Amino acid sequence: MSSKIRIAARLRPLLPDEINDDAVGVQKDDNGSFVTVVHPRDSSQHFKFPFSSCYGQNSNQDEIYNSDVKPLLDVVFSGVTVTVFAYGVTSSGKTHTIQGSKAQPGIIPRVVKDLLERTASFPNAQVSLSVSYMEIYKEDAYDLLVERESAPKLPIRENEAGQVFVAHLSSMSLSCVSDFEKIYSAATKRRSTGSTNLNRASSRSHAILTLYVKVADTAAGQTITGKINLVDLAGSENNKLTGNDPSRMAESSAINKSLSVLGQVVHALNQGASRIPYRNSKLTRILQDALGGTAVGLLICNLAPGAKFRQDTWNTLNFATRTK
Ligand code: ADP
Ligand code: MG
Repeated sequence: MSSKIRIAARLRPLLPDEINDDAVGVQKDDNGSFVTVVHPRDSSQHFKFPFSSCYGQNSNQDEIYNSDVKPLLDVVFSGVTVTVFAYGVTSSGKTHTIQGSKAQPGIIPRVVKDLLERTASFPNAQVSLSVSYMEIYKEDAYDLLVERESAPKLPIRENEAGQVFVAHLSSMSLSCVSDFEKIYSAATKRRSTGSTNLNRASSRSHAILTLYVKVADTAAGQTITGKINLVDLAGSENNKLTGNDPSRMAESSAINKSLSVLGQVVHALNQGASRIPYRNSKLTRILQDALGGTAVGLLICNLAPGAKFRQDTWNTLNFATRTK
């Protein structure tokens, strides 16, 4: 693994009402995998962007999970933190990739199922699995596992060891898939009702689902704790276009800032830099322990085909390039 955070690309298929303009495609040759794209303002210019892995329009949920996510579960059980991000413009396929649907389950339900299966495979140890789920909206963190009325902004604190954590974030233990389904569907509903209350769409916040694994082997006198964060990021569209409503502008600048700091942090980590700018946004502060040290991750850049996304596609590919 050359970099700690692998950068993958996934191009979704055209939706029924979209017009194909062949601006973006995925290509594989002897030298690797590339997203090919025409310049948004000069279609005579073609560019190739290399990625550690590329998923084309016909790729399915199995492929991305089996090649890029499932291998990371071994890492979780070795006591390391893993983070998977979905980055991209609204409608590029982030939620499809991270959560998916009943018919096409995405990364979250697959990770839960596999972690539960693995917890059953330690006959001589006490194994537990638990979950927490929060969203970050306008640089404030909210718990999605408790009712909205009783869910104030959660403070971000640092312990004596310098580890950053979100105070009062709840967690729930999981013993079977149906436990998780109940908890997750209530939280997802809460996220969208919260959205209407706060007059926003869920695409304006980052959602972080964390699964914690604890393996206590009393015979060996050893306890291993690991976790995996699955992050559906806020839409990366050019937020300058949101007009001059002050609340919307604060929202846009929080998103712009946190996504650009995320890019800088991933870049610094992949370059082995000594100074990592975690403190410059809540998202990266909260994920500081997850991203630093021995942690590993995957950043999936979701791309939408179709003429109206040309500029967004270009921006996402350039973001990806800057993170290497
Ligand atoms: P985002 O979360 O980035 O806003 P969504 O995941 O909601 O985007 O995707 C937008 C639409 O495209 C949804 O209707 C979703 O079902 C569909 N879609 C996204 N990716 C794929 C894919 N790989 N295959 C089939 N449909 C997809
Ligand atoms: Mg979404």
